[in-house]
Amino acid sequence: MENNFIYDIIEKDLENHKYSHPIITRFPPEPNGYLHIGHVKSICLNFGTALKYGGSCNLRYDDTNPVKEDEEFVGSIENDVKWLGFEWANLCYASNYFGKMYECCEELIRRGKAYACEMSPEEIKANRGTLTEPGKESPWRNRPIEESLQIFHDMRDGKYKDGERVIRAKIDMASPNINMRDPVIYRVLHASHHNTGDQWCVYPMYDFAHPLEDAIEGVTHSICTLEFEDHRPFYNWVLESLDWPEAPQQIEFAKLNLSNTIMSKRNIKALVASGAVEGWDDPRLCTIAGMRRRGYTPEALRAFCDAIGVAKANSQIGMEQLEFFVRDDLKTKTVSRMVVLHPLKLIIDNYPEGKSELLPIENDPNRPELGTREVSFGRELWIEQEDFMEVPAKKYFRLYPGNEVRLKGAYFVTCTGVDKDAEGNITAVHCTYDPETKSGTPGADSRKVKGTIHWVDAATAVELPVREYGYLAYPNEETGRNEFDPNSRTDLSVKAEASLKDAEAGERFQFFRNGYYIADSVLSKPGAPVFNQIVGLKSSWKPEAK
Ligand code: ATP
Ligand code: MG
Repeated sequence: MENNFIYDIIEKDLENHKYSHPIITRFPPEPNGYLHIGHVKSICLNFGTALKYGGSCNLRYDDTNPVKEDEEFVGSIENDVKWLGFEWANLCYASNYFGKMYECCEELIRRGKAYACEMSPEEIKANRGTLTEPGKESPWRNRPIEESLQIFHDMRDGKYKDGERVIRAKIDMASPNINMRDPVIYRVLHASHHNTGDQWCVYPMYDFAHPLEDAIEGVTHSICTLEFEDHRPFYNWVLESLDWPEAPQQIEFAKLNLSNTIMSKRNIKALVASGAVEGWDDPRLCTIAGMRRRGYTPEALRAFCDAIGVAKANSQIGMEQLEFFVRDDLKTKTVSRMVVLHPLKLIIDNYPEGKSELLPIENDPNRPELGTREVSFGRELWIEQEDFMEVPAKKYFRLYPGNEVRLKGAYFVTCTGVDKDAEGNITAVHCTYDPETKSGTPGADSRKVKGTIHWVDAATAVELPVREYGYLAYPNEETGRNEFDPNSRTDLSVKAEASLKDAEAGERFQFFRNGYYIADSVLSKPGAPVFNQIVGLKSSWKPEAK
């Protein structure tokens, strides 16, 4: 990644020997859903920064809220981070620090920096003030320290119901930053936790827990997204009030916003629950699980994150830019195969009936070093419907009556006419071939033809399911919010060269002239692959020239 303001901060800290150990970062997902492309950016940034400066990065489950979390997500997150190619120094659970957090809260009370409040959550909210008006101090604010401590212990011992007592930081009810107006730091919540079970009935609030989690792990640079900027004063207040040595510092960057998709876990969860998509790993989703199934590579995702960099201001990145990096990576990782997505029969009338030959076709026209494979050719072929026009449009160089084209790696053919059914639909195209033009024979290319089309031998073709994808979502014109497009998947039955029948789940190919495809890891069976379109061949986005 190019230099950015985060690197600048770190380099200064290293120069000043601010910390007595190498830098430590962390990626702290809340296990309440599957990770998505936004998290990929955060992962690349946190793990990448640690690597760059010889430090380490922790994977930490930010699981201090017992009611929203789930073991299913815990496993998926580790798998996703590993798949992206990163290794964590420590696997941590914020919930393992509940004991330490409890002690820190006790310490703040002892230092006169926190107190037990008996106002209800509604009253606290009503007395918080607004952006223009200060809040009102709680009547419990100046109660004796011993009393607050006793209440905190009783809260822990289960003597109160949810919401009956809270512990609040004692800061400033007139602060222009509402987050500093005596925020609640501990609450009573009688709920089972996925890690600590029923050990606790008091839980720390996120803003209190987060700086402590970082500090306990020795994190030096706590990188998070912009919406936490207003929370930084409280983050610092917590650690300063506890005199934490070598306290971590929070640095905010702009979230990744991607066009034509639906990003936040909450919204993806709703799509999954509604059945609009096949699950969290639907290939249209920008979850890591979905992108993996779609055929995106970790290398492409990392290159994309590198290229978009980090900034202090929110902006939106076009999906075409992500697709550019996927395509760019697959170029050198796939071989080319001939597949006809929308089949139309082509009959070569002067090719002997019953004859068949094996023609050598390049495994990748752009990489001759990959050699050739033998592909069977015969009198009846499948071609793409769009490679024929009965009445050619302007500048149409493919097949139309009277025109000659090259069949990729085979012969020149000239269109002679069509067959139609009773309704006038074209059922087959007829042509003649010139045996002298066989690909690879000297002089075969002497005649100029403008179009080259691909084909599949009808006698040996295999029929395979292929799923073509459009964008998952488009902005609603009125609200501007992205909405799910129910037509974002098209199921095709295609004609493919016979070898593709043996494609293994997860194997990727370039379908000549059509795009990149992967044998789906969920639906494919041995001898019966189902293909997902990964990305088309044409790019509408290009990197700026340097
Ligand atoms: P969501 O709103 O999708 O649920 P979140 O921010 O609640 O996302 P967390 O599990 O809390 O998800 O996030 C883990 C880390 O990933 C956080 O540090 C968060 O800032 C970061 N992150 C989440 N979304 C993005 C994004 N779009 N771009 C960059 N970083 C992100
Ligand atoms: Mg969240």
